[in-house]
Amino acid sequence: MTQNDRGLLFIISAASGTGKTTLAERLVQILPNLRMSRSYTSRPARAGERAGVDYNFVSREVFEAMIARHEFLEWANVFGNLYGTSRADTEALLASGQDVVLVIDVQGAKQVKASGVDRTSIFVLPPSFEILERRLRGRSANSEADMQRRLATARAEAGCYVDYDYVVINDRLEPTVVRLQEIIAAERSRMHRMTPIAEDVIKTFRNKPITNNQ
Ligand code: 5GP
Repeated sequence: MTQNDRGLLFIISAASGTGKTTLAERLVQILPNLRMSRSYTSRPARAGERAGVDYNFVSREVFEAMIARHEFLEWANVFGNLYGTSRADTEALLASGQDVVLVIDVQGAKQVKASGVDRTSIFVLPPSFEILERRLRGRSANSEADMQRRLATARAEAGCYVDYDYVVINDRLEPTVVRLQEIIAAERSRMHRMTPIAEDVIKTFRNKPITNNQ
């Protein structure tokens, strides 16, 4: 298998309310080779969420047993609940040639980076803190305490953007989706990923004698 048969791993992180899930969902609609990883979580399903579609919902005990068996590529405690990415699920997708996008928090992104796995990370920022607060308050049925916690986390984690490969400002959805597509296309063209394909092309330069049409 050449390196190019394997899919690429992308990570998107952003504060709650930045629109990262909507962005990732748009991307997988547009790019047929891109899949979103389905995380495991110990939090209960919200109204309208489907098991095995939005998340794999498991008990805290099952989640902790999975941690003990090193089944997570990364995992984190976010707002008091456990969330994690299955190592085996991700590897199976990548090995089958699918590109995979993980929508995970900054703690998880740090773990993937530390593990040395080949990945491209993208941090999505809102245009401003005020706009983030407005979006969060507009969409959410969460309690005021939960809102305060999300805003405090957003403030504490915004500076983490410097640890990512790319940063994108989500001012309007569609231009931001286009920007993300451009990043994915650029990553596909990186020298170390293109070398096997380029070498096949280069062989055609060597094998055939140059014709003389005169
Ligand atoms: P929510 O409960 O609103 O669906 O998600 C809360 C937060 O958990 C979001 O910031 C989301 O990015 C993060 N999250 C979801 N799945 C994972 C995961 O598998 N790993 C990590 N580290 N964070 C996750």
